Amino acid sequence: MMNRTLTGIDASAKRATFATETGTEDVDYDYIHIIPPQRAPNFVRESGLHWADRWTDQGWVEVDMQTLRHLRYPEIFALGDVTGVPKGKTAASVKWQVPVIEDHIVAGIEGREGSAVYDGYTYCPMITRIGHAMLVEFDYHNNLVPSFPGIIAPLEELWISWLLKEVALKATYNAMLCGRA
Ligand SMILES: Cc1cc2nc3c(=O)[nH]c(=O)nc-3n(C[C@H](O)[C@H](O)[C@H](O)COP(=O)(O)OP(=O)(O)OC[C@H]3O[C@@H](n4cnc5c(N)ncnc54)[C@H](O)[C@@H]3O)c2cc1C
Repeated sequence: MMNRTLTGIDASAKRATFATETGTEDVDYDYIHIIPPQRAPNFVRESGLHWADRWTDQGWVEVDMQTLRHLRYPEIFALGDVTGVPKGKTAASVKWQVPVIEDHIVAGIEGREGSAVYDGYTYCPMITRIGHAMLVEFDYHNNLVPSFPGIIAPLEELWISWLLKEVALKATYNAMLCGRA
């Protein structure tokens, strides 16, 4: 359900109330999953770095979608969730964004143009049930860009995908936080 804001929930009756563009709507549910509003932190939204004509409520930073360089302040780059690009709000995206920004900063220091490009790499590990998951990786154009082609089929529910999500990725994320991955 799009363009609705959850305003109330009656757990005993299993009924959710939404504000819609025309009023309110009550919806009965068996299982409910709500995505909260996504926004940049206040200091980013109030920094003057955000887009003026899109994502105005979210305040994502106005960057070139390939170089991640700010469109008005070329000495500024953005990465991670605050980045104003159409895809890539995952930690795995950050792993592909860092080398791009690094390339352009080093090139700038050396007085040349960087060449690295971020293609929108986004990663959605979806646990479908215990022991089964899908590892869907895609780019700006929704092309599938599997990290393990021929080994992990992105559109199949697999045990190996579940194992990767549950066991291997935690170590990878921790390594990223320490700058080692
Ligand atoms: C439920 C859930 C599951 C997810 N699962 C995955 C997954 O399996 N794989 C994956 O790749 N991605 C996943 N993601 C997405 C991933 O968590 C984010 O894309 C990633 O954390 C973005 O990193 P970031 O550093 O840009 O932002 P954040 O991780 O949000 O870090 C921003 C930091 O800035 C801090 N901050 C805010 N304001 C200030 C301030 N004024 N001063 C100082 N610090 C401030 C915040 O406290 C926060 O620590 C998931 C996200 C959610 C919500």
